[in-house]
Amino acid sequence: MLLEIRNLTKTYRAPDGGDAVDVLRGVDLQMAAGETLSIVGPSGSGKSTVLNVIGALDQADAGEVLVDGRDIEKLNKNELAAYRSTTVGFIFQLHHLLPQCTILENVLVPTLAVPKPQREAARGRAEELLEAVGLKHRLNHRPGELSGGERQRVAVARSLINEPKLLLADEPTGALDRVNAAKLVDLLVELNRTRKVTLIMVTHAPELAERMARVLELVDGKLIAQA
Ligand code: ADP
Ligand code: MG
Repeated sequence: MLLEIRNLTKTYRAPDGGDAVDVLRGVDLQMAAGETLSIVGPSGSGKSTVLNVIGALDQADAGEVLVDGRDIEKLNKNELAAYRSTTVGFIFQLHHLLPQCTILENVLVPTLAVPKPQREAARGRAEELLEAVGLKHRLNHRPGELSGGERQRVAVARSLINEPKLLLADEPTGALDRVNAAKLVDLLVELNRTRKVTLIMVTHAPELAERMARVLELVDGKLIAQA
């Protein structure tokens, strides 16, 4: 298994002593390398929390997240930084591109934190990724010169620059119109197929969720197969 999650729980405590929110109440999940999965569920059901815990951007209260058999809770500070920058890739609803940098420079941003020998091959890889997302002719353009769909494709290229095993996409089409949303999911499916990157996509749209091989729903803090 590439990813194994066991009995993850998380509660947000209200700072003013108000009611605590039990967001995750025993999330279990197993994914083999190369699989695709979507997570659906109403707003506030904990979808982002699950992705953030898997990506080590947030911590659960209890439970385990094993990636390639390693418990991410047990990584030391350096291993954790490497995990966040090279084992997982993230795409969010908003692209978070740097407006003053070119498309090519934006795709290279996640390589600034990795050791130099790995960094040197990155430029060629960035160009190749931008070609794969259909933007090879726009390398030196700035985000402001691109459409919303194109900007999100740059974010996809950026998420893959360090060749992550696991791509975590949190409502990646949330800011796009229907046509561009469908195209972005086409792209994610294609990248899963050609690059074997394991993909978890959170989405509100059932027709997009169904493009993944498996759809799970977050209900009462647990991930269950959709009815
Ligand atoms: P989703 O992505 O499904 O919309 P989230 O994972 O963002 O849901 O949030 C799940 C629940 O946890 C929501 O009720 C939200 O208000 C609450 N929550 C999220 N982050 C925090 C936080 N940092 N502090 C307190 N409550 C939070
Ligand atoms: Mg969310």
